[in-house]
Amino acid sequence: MNAKVFEKVKVYAFLLFQLFLSKTKIMEFISEKLDEYVIKHTANEPQLLYQLNRETHLKVLQPRMLSGHFQGRVLSMFSKMIKPKNILEIGTYTGYSTLCFLEGLVEGGKITTIDINYELEDMVRRYFDLSGRSEAIDYKIGDAMEIVPTLQEEFDLVFIDADKDNYLNYYHQVIDKVKLGGYIIADNVLWSGKVTGEYDQLDADTKTLVDLNQLVHDDKRVEHVLLPIRDGLMVMRRV
Ligand code: SAH
Ligand code: CA
Repeated sequence: MNAKVFEKVKVYAFLLFQLFLSKTKIMEFISEKLDEYVIKHTANEPQLLYQLNRETHLKVLQPRMLSGHFQGRVLSMFSKMIKPKNILEIGTYTGYSTLCFLEGLVEGGKITTIDINYELEDMVRRYFDLSGRSEAIDYKIGDAMEIVPTLQEEFDLVFIDADKDNYLNYYHQVIDKVKLGGYIIADNVLWSGKVTGEYDQLDADTKTLVDLNQLVHDDKRVEHVLLPIRDGLMVMRRV
């Protein structure tokens, strides 16, 4: 094969791989038909979130990390039910879940959101500005493992959605920063179903998620329910 043909093959292979990635979703726990029905009967994404979802898929690596239409509406609904004054989010990514939580934040409230990826900053700030409530968002860029211990406030709602290998650490870091009656939500705790595998055979991230689920289950400081929504939401209430 000459070099030119090889280059062409490489480009096609790359495009095919991208197409494959865009078609594969996080493992669905319900049938495709039922999933379609659920989405069809769930409120539409607000226009700004629809745009952000699209732009993330067009321009940003790993768009599957974005909460998306259905989970976004779930997070928005939780936030409206909790009516938090002070929210902490660990793992901003492109700001989709931040804007969902913002929908339930009370007037004069604040959401602190942390991400280590400085490359997304311009895009994220642009969307926060478009929300018209950017003054309520404290967007911090850096390692959450270092930033969270410096936060002095108490929170009504904490969303853990950053690096999975630090999930246990984040839980320990935030548990005493959550008000009694406040909530912690950890995303991706089913890890595409991998958490049910034989413990010894699991990779490090999956082991951490299994350890977290067990710790939460045994921890008297929280009431909890593991909701099989999308990739699994562990919803905890500080008691
Ligand atoms: N909450 C977003 C998705 C977050 S994806 C949504 O639902 O739309 C996970 C994010 O965690 C990524 O953007 C990644 O950059 C960030 N992250 C990974 N390790 C981190 C760390 N140590 N500190 C802060 N953010 C981290
Ligand atoms: Ca997530």
